[in-house]
Amino acid sequence: MTQGCFSTVLKLTAQPDCFALANALSEILLLQPEIEGIRLFEVFDGESGSARMLREVGEPEDGRKQRIEYTTALSEALAEKCRTSELVGRMERQYFPIPGDSAIKRLLVVDGVPLSREQLDWIGNVLAVYRNHLLVLDRKDRDLLTGLMNRHTFEDRIMRVLSGVGKTDTGAWLALLDIDHFKRVNDTYGHLYGDEVLLLFARLMQRSFRYTDFLFRYGGEEFVVILTEVPDGVGAAILERFRQSVEAFVFPTVGQVTVSIGCVRLETGKLPDRFLDEADRALYFAKNNGRNQVISFHDMDDGRSDGEHDGEVELF
Ligand code: GH3
Ligand code: MG
Ligand code: MG
Repeated sequence: MTQGCFSTVLKLTAQPDCFALANALSEILLLQPEIEGIRLFEVFDGESGSARMLREVGEPEDGRKQRIEYTTALSEALAEKCRTSELVGRMERQYFPIPGDSAIKRLLVVDGVPLSREQLDWIGNVLAVYRNHLLVLDRKDRDLLTGLMNRHTFEDRIMRVLSGVGKTDTGAWLALLDIDHFKRVNDTYGHLYGDEVLLLFARLMQRSFRYTDFLFRYGGEEFVVILTEVPDGVGAAILERFRQSVEAFVFPTVGQVTVSIGCVRLETGKLPDRFLDEADRALYFAKNNGRNQVISFHDMDDGRSDGEHDGEVELF
């Protein structure tokens, strides 16, 4: 192996999370003088099943996400799982789909002058190392049963979302979701059916929330959702729609299951623990007042968000 290849592999496999890995990939590729621009997207299934949604990995500095145009070459790369290209002005744009365990998980978009066969092969090899390390990181960041992100990933994600709050005209919300009387499910039907409920509950979350939202299994039968790009006033309504879809779903053998949800709007200048505490208070209220409902912290008596309700003054 040449020294250059060796240091590329070392650099990629040393990265601790998917964002640092994306930055390392981009630095490595941009060293090639023929490559002028790199963009990396996470790929999600769209609502109709076949249509794919793209979320750029990492947040732009100004918090404004740029969309990418859905061209024929882009769709073809995702559908056929092979590299495609097209001319954009004077540049050639290459689309490299990157598979996960089965489906396509990432799409790399490379702009530059037309690349030689050797250069394309080299990018293919770099992406193979990128993909292997991404799969390792994914196993660390995700819950094994549901495939949702785990508690350990939460802190990093919420800090990233908080850094973008206030920079756009939409907001972000944090919600704690706790399945009602879940102990009864385990006690009545056994742990295996309990696990199946957790898995199907996670599927309902993936179907109900958008690809721009972040979904976590926070512990046992507790889940967390960070809603992003929420227009004014609709945070609790989005969660209410999910609550209804759980109530209406018939779980095999177990039948009906309900969920209680506490939520809070994210604001700048407060730490994640503060939002978790406020959402938890709203959830506690929901549990003590009949369960199967969404409570917004802002609608509670002590839900004033001026930071002074218990003698505290916000210092930053
Ligand atoms: P509440 O409506 O007050 O939330 O009632 P609950 O029974 O859901 O409350 P509690 O939080 O006390 O119980 C949660 C139960 O979830 C306890 C535990 O047996 C079960 N549990 C936690 N993790 C798992 C898991 O991974 N699989 C299964 N099957 N059950 C789990
Ligand atoms: Mg619980
Ligand atoms: Mg519970």
